[in-house]
Amino acid sequence: MTLTIAKTILVIGAVAWFIIRWPHQRRSWKTKTRLDRRTTREKILLTCSFTGLGIIPFIYVVSGRPHFSDYPFQPVMAWLGAIIFAVALWLFYRVHKELGRNWSDSLEVREQHKLVTDGLYRHVRHPMYTAFFLWAVAQALLLPNWIAGPAGLVGFGTLFLFRVGREEQMMLDNFGDDYREYMRRTARLIPGIY
Ligand code: SAH
Repeated sequence: MTLTIAKTILVIGAVAWFIIRWPHQRRSWKTKTRLDRRTTREKILLTCSFTGLGIIPFIYVVSGRPHFSDYPFQPVMAWLGAIIFAVALWLFYRVHKELGRNWSDSLEVREQHKLVTDGLYRHVRHPMYTAFFLWAVAQALLLPNWIAGPAGLVGFGTLFLFRVGREEQMMLDNFGDDYREYMRRTARLIPGIY
């Protein structure tokens, strides 16, 4: 494992992520929405996440900048990052399938929205966010740079922190006791832990 290979793995992972999402993204544009909470705040949060997981690592991969925050490359960490990225991709693929038409990249309720509580959703309420966090951890392990590495954790972490409570409130407003009951028996991201 070399730094170039680690960077290539990150790029391949990001492209694979996009390929998995693309058919769902296209379908979501055609799916009618009953309730839209895509506020300016939501758009800012999406930008934070895109900056941390996309723009900053992209700049690092193509230019090596910022140089001042480099630290020595550790092949073992990069291998671990590659494995975690593979798990993240598998999780992302499955969760997208399970969520189906109910998915949207922001806070929305569809016209025929179904509350999904099966499959991975049986164990956690936000498995897609778990997948994003795994991607962010993989990025931190693959890039030996104190800014480009953790940028994904900061960017996506900001989105998660400011979104998750609102998302759950939106689900409570729409599914009432069904979602309340579902919350009682599930964790947010990691079964039995959080
Ligand atoms: N937070 C979830 C879903 C992310 S996509 C996860 O991490 O897996 C965001 C959209 O998914 C929200 O607009 C909401 O309408 C929808 N959603 C969230 N949880 C859901 C569930 N259990 N069943 C159906 N739709 C859900």
